[in-house]
Amino acid sequence: MLTGIHVAFIGGDARQLEVIKKCLEMDATITLIGFDNLESKYKGVHLKELSPEVLKTVDALILPIVGTNEEGYVESVFSKNKIKLSEECLAFLPKTSKIYTGMARNYLKQLCTELQVELIELLDRDDIAIYNSIPTVEGTLMMAIQNTDFTIHNSNAIVLGFGRTGVSLARALHALGAHVKVGARKPEHLARIFEMGLVPFQINDLTANVSDVDLLFNTIPQMIITAKVIANLPHHSLIIDLASKPGGTDFRFAEKRGIKALLAPGLPGIVAPKTAGKIIANVLSNLILEQCSRNQEGL
Ligand code: NAP
Repeated sequence: MLTGIHVAFIGGDARQLEVIKKCLEMDATITLIGFDNLESKYKGVHLKELSPEVLKTVDALILPIVGTNEEGYVESVFSKNKIKLSEECLAFLPKTSKIYTGMARNYLKQLCTELQVELIELLDRDDIAIYNSIPTVEGTLMMAIQNTDFTIHNSNAIVLGFGRTGVSLARALHALGAHVKVGARKPEHLARIFEMGLVPFQINDLTANVSDVDLLFNTIPQMIITAKVIANLPHHSLIIDLASKPGGTDFRFAEKRGIKALLAPGLPGIVAPKTAGKIIANVLSNLILEQCSRNQEGL
């Protein structure tokens, strides 16, 4: 339980509601900042403005998935106003408190370093990334279906990257009956791809492997689907790039060649905000519990 623990939320989207509900179930003391248009009312939850008085007693400060922009503003779908996280204000956080976010831009990272407040980036964690791969794969399949006139079954699909998202995607495509090739660079990944009944290839040989591909999925956050690769793709093929912005595709050249290429960021929050929120809520509540027991033990 989180009895006596003060958790403050600043901004966010529908996913944050699941986290709030979980913290409420666990009896935390909750303050919401930047939630002035919130429709659901939660009993015992306080809506406040960002101020030193509020921050002084906070044990865990929860920011949205994209913590702040590079100017330090936090977005909230529950408020018309953006909230600025200034150094002067955050300086009032107790030194034992922690800031949790999905991923932090440099502004937030620097601020936390200067103030010596621990910053936890949840999307970096393996558990969250693996759970998140479930809605990501569902959203990817949805996009593939919406943007093609052929079935995934019996199509030639390529997945680039064999990390937390790539593994789940390759497995789902295989289960749907696609002929799946996976491009990776580590020998152990190539071995595992083979063991799964898929066709592995060295990522350096990408150009030579794409001439008959129908669906090309990228999870590598580097420029990987270059003009040279695109020049070898069949005209009807579809590229879906899941890697974080700006993706790993030469979109300009794909357009020039008339090949449809889609950058698809943030699928969990789009296709399954409730599930995405629950994933964060479960992991985050455990982290806050751990943090509090460590604080109590004086570690
Ligand atoms: P991950 O576990 O780190 O996997 C990334 C993969 O890319 C690994 O297999 C890695 O290979 C490979 N890779 C990285 N740099 C490479 C390079 N220069 N050459 C060849 N391979 C390279 O990451 P993830 O969690 O699967 O996420 C993948 C990307 O998708 C990230 O950009 C993430 O932000 C994004 N993402 C997007 C969504 C969405 O909704 N669109 C959802 C979740 C994640 P090694 O193991 O050999 O390093």
